[in-house]
Amino acid sequence: MKKILLEDHEIPKHWYNILPDLPSPLEPPLDPETKQPMNPEKLKALFPEALIEQEMSTERWIEIPSEVLDVYSIWRPTPLIRATNLEEFLDTPAKIYYKYEGIAPPGSHKPNTAVPQAYYNAKEGIKKLTTETGAGQWGSSLAFAGQYFGVEVKVYMVKVSYQQKPYRRILMETWGANVIPSPSPYTKSGRKILEQDPDNPGSLGIAISEAVEEALENSDTHYALGSVLNHVLLHQTVIGLEAKKQLAKVKHYPDIVIGSVGGGSNFGGLALPFMLERLSGDSCTRFIAVEPASCPTLTKGKYEYDFGDTVGFTPLMKMHTLGHDFIPPSIHAGGLRYHGMAPIVSKLYEEGLIEAVAVPQTAIFKAAVDFARTEGIVPAPESAHAVKVAIDEALKCRETGEQKVILFNLSGHGLLDLTAYQKYLEGELTD
Ligand SMILES: *Cc1c(COP(=O)(O)O)cnc(C)c1O
Repeated sequence: MKKILLEDHEIPKHWYNILPDLPSPLEPPLDPETKQPMNPEKLKALFPEALIEQEMSTERWIEIPSEVLDVYSIWRPTPLIRATNLEEFLDTPAKIYYKYEGIAPPGSHKPNTAVPQAYYNAKEGIKKLTTETGAGQWGSSLAFAGQYFGVEVKVYMVKVSYQQKPYRRILMETWGANVIPSPSPYTKSGRKILEQDPDNPGSLGIAISEAVEEALENSDTHYALGSVLNHVLLHQTVIGLEAKKQLAKVKHYPDIVIGSVGGGSNFGGLALPFMLERLSGDSCTRFIAVEPASCPTLTKGKYEYDFGDTVGFTPLMKMHTLGHDFIPPSIHAGGLRYHGMAPIVSKLYEEGLIEAVAVPQTAIFKAAVDFARTEGIVPAPESAHAVKVAIDEALKCRETGEQKVILFNLSGHGLLDLTAYQKYLEGELTD
């Protein structure tokens, strides 16, 4: 295991915005009522102006505010690690690197966007942020970020996770957030679903509906989304920009960049800064997005306009989607359950610039355990999707003898996901 570190002053000072470089422009979000292109004015009920501007910006480089850099510096720059033990275990000539985002206090890449989102909202006088969370990684990241800028955080947590995964709820409460199991009786959306089905286990789409509804009804309250949107991918590019500097220190450039995809933010965050050279014809790097076989948004979803939530409050976005009422099968333990995909990632996939692979969960956990036993870090089940495909690509290099440089995003640690590991180790997980 070999770590490549940057100095504190080497944290990027700008995020990379890919919008002006896309081969064709993104289709505009549509108003859920009129189905016409969304009037940005209407988004102001949900988001601060700074983020609405970033969502549509044509500036390639966007400055990171110093207040955000101050909080980033608690855990950034994150290490880039050469997986020498894994390489040896696989007996591969490939060089495997991973960017380790799990050292952030909430344990994943998500605070990279939670911090600027809390900052811009506080700056515009917002007192409270509502959001949804599945397993709790996003909710805990926003709870963590809210404290630095005096913003109250209310999290609608998918009910089945609320019941089965108490530790991230406790983490959110420790950082001062108010956590509500969703569907809840406190919103019209929640009540409607509970009337039809009192035992509804909840879904991300339902929780988003509840969080958006509360924000729309209160002028001092905004909504925060942890993935999918352009500004979220923008903030996450800090990952790829750091990785690029770190690889340059050892005179390497990736042949293959891999990330797991739920809504597309950790993949985009690592991949987009390298896409810059691919788009200008200066590299032929391959980009691979990895999704669960039981939530195959890119490989099986349709590319069409869909809502971001279940009820239909959010703008319609042109993206890969399994349908806004999609709920993954209950045996699924590996996260990445969202029905849609970031419009940026969807567009790049349509343009043939990225590849997608769907992998069944037992193969994911096997890769995770092999990784833990060689590199020492227990990956988040989400991140293990990237581990699995990095291993597969490294094994192909063993066949061909190619010394490819493989870079993947280890988006988080799995220390609060041990129940899923227990199921795998006890042979209870099936595909
Ligand atoms: C949330 C999460 C993901 C999936 O979300 P993306 O927006 O696709 O990145 C992946 N890994 C970890 C550790 C997460 O917490």
